[in-house]
Amino acid sequence: MRTYKNTEQLWNLTGSSERIVLVAHTNPDGDAIGSVSAMYYFLKQTGRNAAMIVPNAFPDFLSCLNPADSPVSIYRNDPQECNRIIAEADLIICMDMSGPSRIDEMSDAVFQDSKAKRILIDHHLNPVAGPFDVVISDTEVSSTCELLLSMILQAPDIAGDIDKLNLDCATSIAAGMLTDTNNFANSIFPSTLERFSMLLKRGVDRDALYNAIFCSYSASRMKLMGHLLSEKMTLIQDGSVAFITLDKAEKDRYSYCTGDSEGFVNLPLKIRGVCMSALLTEDDGFVKVSLRSKGTLDVNLFARQYCNGGGHRNASGGRLYMDISETAAYFTASIEDYFKKA
Ligand code: 5GP
Ligand code: MN
Repeated sequence: MRTYKNTEQLWNLTGSSERIVLVAHTNPDGDAIGSVSAMYYFLKQTGRNAAMIVPNAFPDFLSCLNPADSPVSIYRNDPQECNRIIAEADLIICMDMSGPSRIDEMSDAVFQDSKAKRILIDHHLNPVAGPFDVVISDTEVSSTCELLLSMILQAPDIAGDIDKLNLDCATSIAAGMLTDTNNFANSIFPSTLERFSMLLKRGVDRDALYNAIFCSYSASRMKLMGHLLSEKMTLIQDGSVAFITLDKAEKDRYSYCTGDSEGFVNLPLKIRGVCMSALLTEDDGFVKVSLRSKGTLDVNLFARQYCNGGGHRNASGGRLYMDISETAAYFTASIEDYFKKA
């Protein structure tokens, strides 16, 4: 069983703080929302309250995790009110984010203007530890949710007994583990299945979660996926690297909503011989890059060197500050350069 030496510090701080704010990264995925809501439900179980704030959106398919009595706030929708909540906090817990740049326009409120103590709980490579009073970081876990479960099991209220954990918290943790492993296809560590098995034992309804997360696409999303695979996928580097570009006109044509392209980047990896895949999506003022790889091919390094980003060895992302029409040539040249140096 994995244990963490600064867990005691975490629970001491949550125990002694009056106003706790939980934060996760821009475009939050299942692990970001899962870890924030799991922490909320656990703190609630132990008699504490917390506010949850994410920078820009809450994905529809995760609405089952959003606490009805205290829903997650979206910073972009009401920055003034969110700034007030953050300014009044005496403890801010940042989850599933490797550093300040991952919360964009929320970053000043959390990292410059606030006097609160800050804790980081994260599983990404190279976390920016500087602005935090406590850093709980482990890259050898599937997800932040898995890491959080280990810390919760070490909390005095639970003391290793999963049956003492409330079901909402257990369900949020399971959601993060399901999404970050892509339904147990990747990022599986020895602890992962053991931990998930504990959640099943606690009564988490995996089938319901699976349906909510993986079988809730809109018809337009499925059509966009078909369009991108048939018309927009390009294979380079002797068929070992695939990339797809998605521009704003296509987003409009397929009534694109935030999160609609989630998972698309994984699809080309199903082709024999493809060991790296990229999705380049036009956004406001930049092109979002999503990268995935198989085996030892390091896309974190690629993201850092060519895409102003980072992440994990097999799943990374970043941003390109150029027109979407220039990205195919830039990406192709970057791949050639990267493979030449490798
Ligand atoms: P996704 O492709 O799902 O958006 O991101 C995959 C992973 O890449 C994330 O879990 C995160 O670790 C990393 N990532 C995505 N976008 C960025 C970014 O703009 N900057 C950094 N440093 N990492 C990113
Ligand atoms: Mn994660």
